[in-house]
Amino acid sequence: MRILLVEDDAMLGEGLQAALQLEGYAVDWLQDGEAAWAALATDTFDLLILDLGLPRLPGLEVLARLRARDTDLPVLILTARDTPRERVQGLDAGADDYLIKSFDIDELGAHLRALTRRRGGRRNPLIRHGAIELDPATHEVRLEGRPLALPRREFSLLNLLLENAGQVVTKPRLQEALYGWEEDVESNTLEVHIHHLRRKLGKQAIRTVRGVGYMIPGESE
Ligand code: CA
Repeated sequence: MRILLVEDDAMLGEGLQAALQLEGYAVDWLQDGEAAWAALATDTFDLLILDLGLPRLPGLEVLARLRARDTDLPVLILTARDTPRERVQGLDAGADDYLIKSFDIDELGAHLRALTRRRGGRRNPLIRHGAIELDPATHEVRLEGRPLALPRREFSLLNLLLENAGQVVTKPRLQEALYGWEEDVESNTLEVHIHHLRRKLGKQAIRTVRGVGYMIPGESE
């Protein structure tokens, strides 16, 4: 999952980016509204975490422009404790959820998982697909009921493919979801992760769609 984090408070932004990366998200962090709007216009993200008090372009304006473009990108706004009016405006402008600053990282993680479920039309926190069961909260994976230990990137990759089961996920999108704007990513790393996942889950679990990307076939396929 690739998150765009927009927060001008350097300490908070840096801390959030690091903590969310540990959770297995690819996190791109920007510190002003104009830069955020430019990134949203050109890049694909799975979630937006948006501070409202931002330099150059206020968070509410970023949100309004985003919704005017008719995207269904889930947006979580960050607001200060003493600004209830801002929260109301944010929700009415199309935010899906908010957190009041001074939240802890576990709380943020739970909100992000809930937003992801809602986006995928899921209520059950566990993702079940054939013999695979994946818990986005605990990062546990089971195959035919037996625990399967996966490194962070493999887990993220499997999570994303399962969220989109039955659909092809393109290589660039998978790469972005794993690495964001990180540099020095070897071009064949994605293939290596896929190879490892297939070894663990069975060759048929992930289908290659030549020249496009990969997919986990839908349950009926
Ligand atoms: Ca701010």
